Amino acid sequence: LILYFKSQESITILVGDSGVGKTSLLVQFDQGKFIPGSFSATVGIGFTVIHPIWDTAGQERFRSVTHAYYRDAQALLLLYDITSKSSFDNTRAWLTEIHEYAQDDVVIMLLGNKSDMTSARAIRRDEGEKLAREYGVIFLETSAKTGLNVDEAFMTVGKELVRRS
Ligand code: GDP
Ligand code: MG
Repeated sequence: LILYFKSQESITILVGDSGVGKTSLLVQFDQGKFIPGSFSATVGIGFTVIHPIWDTAGQERFRSVTHAYYRDAQALLLLYDITSKSSFDNTRAWLTEIHEYAQDDVVIMLLGNKSDMTSARAIRRDEGEKLAREYGVIFLETSAKTGLNVDEAFMTVGKELVRRS
């Protein structure tokens, strides 16, 4: 992954409703571990060795992510929680906002997080895939808890950024 970003300064931001697991996913990617419990909802900026990643607070959807954040992002990870239908339904509003404010060539990944919570699943995988197809974005199901597809998500973003550069 470092290889893909070495010669390039890029910003990836994580967006999605509060509680979908944005901070947990970032911590799992950065530190390789799951720290249970909710993190502070304030906007945090996590600098990894690879590239700066901006984690956003999701509850004030249309205010917390300023337009400047979107403008500066080369990649966006849009998360929903597979156990929360409302977080899935709200991804359409997020995508509308992204298309309004982000760069035209921004790399967007739709991530169905908490895929470890199989008994509480509310959104099927094919529903996520269908939405991703509709918007022409890349899709993966992830788990910040088990680490499933977490590296893959960031790796895919990296590859796509290189491919488009
Ligand atoms: P954020 O508001 O989007 O940053 O969400 P957080 O990272 O604070 O996570 C919200 C809650 O969901 C916390 O209790 C996390 O421990 C939990 N959580 C996050 N990701 C996962 C996951 O992949 N699986 C499970 N089982 N719980 C998760
Ligand atoms: Mg958070």
